[in-house]
Amino acid sequence: MNLAVRTAARPTPAEIGDPLDPLAPALFEPLGVDGVYARTRVYEDMVERLDALISRHREAETEVLRFPPVMSRRDLERAGYLKSFPNLLGCVCALHGAEADIRGAADRHEAGGDWTASLSPADLVLTPAACYPLYPIAAARGPVPRQGLRFDVACDCFRHEPSRHLDRLQSFRMREYVCIGSPQQVSDFRERWIPRAKALADALGLAHRVAPASDPFFGRTGQVMAISQLQQSLKFELLIPLRSAERPTACMSFNCHRDHFGAIWGLRDATGEVAHTGCVAFGMDRLAVALFATHGLEPRKWPGSVRGTLEL
Ligand code: 5GP
Ligand code: ZN
Repeated sequence: MNLAVRTAARPTPAEIGDPLDPLAPALFEPLGVDGVYARTRVYEDMVERLDALISRHREAETEVLRFPPVMSRRDLERAGYLKSFPNLLGCVCALHGAEADIRGAADRHEAGGDWTASLSPADLVLTPAACYPLYPIAAARGPVPRQGLRFDVACDCFRHEPSRHLDRLQSFRMREYVCIGSPQQVSDFRERWIPRAKALADALGLAHRVAPASDPFFGRTGQVMAISQLQQSLKFELLIPLRSAERPTACMSFNCHRDHFGAIWGLRDATGEVAHTGCVAFGMDRLAVALFATHGLEPRKWPGSVRGTLEL
């Protein structure tokens, strides 16, 4: 058996490289860690145009809030994140000791040693999805009005899943529209947004399909949660074939949380019932990568209709 000949005839996936890799030099600068990149002007311009496009589709009476990339650790713990996705969570750590302890850690680093053993958790985590910080804010305002509440939120999100693929970043931008209200209001909200999001993808010239989906819940019990989520049709995703039709990339999601956040945060509707919540999430970085992967690296050569949609 001649292994060398076989390898030459059939390169491994690592040798072939990823179909999105050729986009990297024009869109990103490496920052030394997989899935964390500086963004070039042409890329960032597209993220801003996508953002503006999504804003033009904002429903009336939607309150705008923008969140920092960190949130209260206690709030995320209370939201149940550690039950579902403990493996994805990033926690802020700091040197908390007395001056001598902090100096000792810094000196150890200077001497080529490990300073990180002196770190301890701060009261912050890296926000893993843009809607988590919203629910305690909404709950603090008292009962949800009869017509429900709608929010437009955005955040730099972090998920600890290092990957070399340009559509799986550790640090990425998420924009969301969120609905808080009765089960019917939340269900109507999602029903309105699925066709609207498909029309958006059409206008952007992006091949897509919407399909039932589940979140990547952690571990064996997570598999049961994922099956239950699918069975109850709680999540749909808008999938775009970035590298193959068989393994498309989720670029938007349409989520119904039922009374999960309402019960945790004491969100009540006007009749005293626990409020339901739902969200539509736009993966800004994945949508931007999808545009370049589909139409090429030179926006001035993109189809006129796509340029019009983005006001290019
Ligand atoms: P979800 O909360 O549904 O997992 O994520 C919402 C959206 O954020 C996804 O549809 C996707 O567009 C975006 N997103 C999730 N994970 C990643 C990721 O690892 N990298 C990038 N660039 N976007 C992501
Ligand atoms: Zn959300």
